[in-house]
Amino acid sequence: MDLSKIKDLIRKSNKITILTGAGISTESGIADYRSPGGVWEQYKYVTLQEIMHDTEKRKYYWRYKKETIPSMSNAEPNAAHKAIGKLDNEGKLYYLLTQNIDGLHEKGGVSGERIINLHGTNLEAICLSCKTIYDINTTLARLEECDYDPRCEKKECGGILKPNTVSFGQNLNPLYLETAEKASKECDLFMALGSSLVVHPVCSFVEVAHRYSKPIIIINRDPTPYDHLARYKLTDSLAEILPKILF
Ligand SMILES: [Zn+2]
Repeated sequence: MDLSKIKDLIRKSNKITILTGAGISTESGIADYRSPGGVWEQYKYVTLQEIMHDTEKRKYYWRYKKETIPSMSNAEPNAAHKAIGKLDNEGKLYYLLTQNIDGLHEKGGVSGERIINLHGTNLEAICLSCKTIYDINTTLARLEECDYDPRCEKKECGGILKPNTVSFGQNLNPLYLETAEKASKECDLFMALGSSLVVHPVCSFVEVAHRYSKPIIIINRDPTPYDHLARYKLTDSLAEILPKILF
């Protein structure tokens, strides 16, 4: 495909909203949990209800997190994450909406106030009672001494701690959803990158952008249910294509 038209569209856009999914992080060595051989094939998922009420399931969940989070924290942002960071640096990024929990957009240079971590983040743990946030590494480091059932350290709280990601059976943060909807409505270009766009409500943001007549670019290896709404659809590697088209 001739990339010059896409580059033109991006060049004249100054308020770009980008939605990213697992596909942007696979090139940083992070497994897509929906892919065959993905981590969720090896570990049965644990729901929020189970984390709250079943001590054994909760310990099991923390063991799983202890095994998977360090490889995620050691991962480096790839050229695609860095290109989006540069876009933010140039003042052209409106919002970055991500389904990923790996923290690679933060490491790739996108400023915190631009990032909406729709599914939460593995960089933090949260107390389910008082909502205090803890650094995940501090919590991981004390897992053994608390027999894999870490508790809130606030005086008289002692609530259950859980990684600050959205668990199965848990609702997405309504404030994030509101901001994401605004980001899709008020941008001048909407890009969906590395997402198969099958998880609700995330995929609905493409519909919102379309309803408000925003041009849409989709880059994903596989077809998505929204390809027909996109002005441009590419299947290239994000680490290769983004640095070429964003600038
Ligand atoms: Zn607490």
